[in-house]
Amino acid sequence: MHDELRALAKLAMMDGAASDHDAELRDLPAKIEAMRGDVQTLESLLAAERAQIDEATALRDERQKELQAKVDWLGAAKTKLSKARTLREADMAEREVEVTRRAIKEREEEILSIEETLEQKSGSLGERESQFQEAKKMLDEEEAEATARLEVVRAERDKVLAGRDEVAKDVPKRVFKRYEKLRTKQSRYQAVSFIDAAGTCYSCRMALPAQLFIEVQRGEEFHECPQCRAFLVHEAFVPEAPNAPKASAPEASEDEAPTSDAPADAAESASADAPSA
Ligand SMILES: [Zn+2]
Repeated sequence: MHDELRALAKLAMMDGAASDHDAELRDLPAKIEAMRGDVQTLESLLAAERAQIDEATALRDERQKELQAKVDWLGAAKTKLSKARTLREADMAEREVEVTRRAIKEREEEILSIEETLEQKSGSLGERESQFQEAKKMLDEEEAEATARLEVVRAERDKVLAGRDEVAKDVPKRVFKRYEKLRTKQSRYQAVSFIDAAGTCYSCRMALPAQLFIEVQRGEEFHECPQCRAFLVHEAFVPEAPNAPKASAPEASEDEAPTSDAPADAAESASADAPSA
């Protein structure tokens, strides 16, 4: 039984050590994805501005063609005027010259305004273009960095989790299944709570009832926290905990348990419970 508890503790420590790596493996690609989204937004803005410029350029070219036609027409109207033989012919030709001149003036003004717009748009396009290039360059750099970093993190994570399957085999299937469920649940609580002499659940900070604390110290079966449902493992069964006794110690601590200062805490919390009960 103690070996099973130790295996569960080991598993929890391995997964705990891997959790930072897991977070990085999840967050770093998300960050790059967000950057890529920004770059794509800039790119589509750029494309929209280019399309507007193309449209304005086409309109200007069209108006220029019309202007040329009117200029030709004006030449013909002037010739007609000079060749007019009657007053009526002269009158008509003169009106034609006048109308054409006005049309030319209108076209010229329109072309001028289109060109002003084009000039403005080209300026902002250049600005946006350099913004885009800058963002793209930054994305490429960050992406290359992230790729390298992720490789390192993956390797570190593999190292931390090396032998996990073997450790998991030492945990009863039913316990392992529940552990995995607790571990992968989006919760602020831990799947395994290590209990030290204070007799407090590490996961939810609840003081364990005295009897439960004693049973957790004995480590004769799997217990869970009444409040947060985390598996309770006494630190004596945590192989690598800084203050954990050596692997051979737990048997001794089992005998010592009632005389250590830990049960005093437990007794205190028991007496604290008594008046309300
Ligand atoms: Zn708890």
